[in-house]
Amino acid sequence: MKVIDGSKVIHSFKSDMEPVEKVNPKEIFKVCTNDCFHGQLIREDQTFGELDYSLFNPATGPIYIEGAEAGDLLKVKILDIQVPSKGVSVTVPKEGVLGNKVTKALTKIIEIKDGSCNYNGIQIPIRPMIGVIGVAPKEGEYDTATPWKHGGNMDTADIGIGSTLYFPVNQKGALLALGDCHALMADGEIACSGLEIAAEVILQVDVIKGKEIAWPLVETDDYTMVIASGDTLDEAVYAASDEAVKYLAKGLNMSWEEAYILASLAVDIRISQLVDPKLTVRAVIPKRILETQKIIRSL
Ligand code: CA
Ligand code: ZN
Repeated sequence: MKVIDGSKVIHSFKSDMEPVEKVNPKEIFKVCTNDCFHGQLIREDQTFGELDYSLFNPATGPIYIEGAEAGDLLKVKILDIQVPSKGVSVTVPKEGVLGNKVTKALTKIIEIKDGSCNYNGIQIPIRPMIGVIGVAPKEGEYDTATPWKHGGNMDTADIGIGSTLYFPVNQKGALLALGDCHALMADGEIACSGLEIAAEVILQVDVIKGKEIAWPLVETDDYTMVIASGDTLDEAVYAASDEAVKYLAKGLNMSWEEAYILASLAVDIRISQLVDPKLTVRAVIPKRILETQKIIRSL
């Protein structure tokens, strides 16, 4: 199995990037990721000010996927996310939803053992996920802190073990990169961090030719979710809703108005994160109403 080590990182997703490794469709490979602080925050007495912010949010890659071309879909199955024995979570003045109330920074080193983390004596089952994962954008450059149509810092709790992502391929080879894994994160990520960890991620990729999507999708056992981001929550909700209603209309062969009502009955809009440079939500389509494969076939 190919291993892409954590020393090969990017800090922005660009339309032209030099790949560090090549993989084939259906190949299973391992990606070693750094935590979002690039391993700089290891003790609770460290002050946030002494960290080098320019190293934040490293994404391992880019990885060239053979046969992927603009106008295709890249399918990324997350087979496993192996977590270390501890991680870190922080709050910092001005950061997060309640940032105006934070008078001092607080760093918590949190132990992880037997599938749970221990926070102040409270045992919480972990749910490992990938915070930053994306491909080369159509044009321009997006720093790895920002989520957009190419993916990036989507901080979506459903991007976890067993899930499958679908990205629009914008450049030859797709150029996949990922990092910023969390052992645990709640919807919203309101204090601005999850349980931040370095991780070993096992992936399997595939290419679906000639199918285009506007925003990334994540497929779980029971749902297909459109992950959309915007400068405001309203913009993100609009984009996710718009895409979901289009999928329902096309996939179920009904009028746009019929699909719009169906979405109002059966498609949940959930908050992914409220703390990154753009905000992220997902529109959650139950697979018992419309299968992921049916959505893709109808594109
Ligand atoms: Ca993040
Ligand atoms: Zn993170």
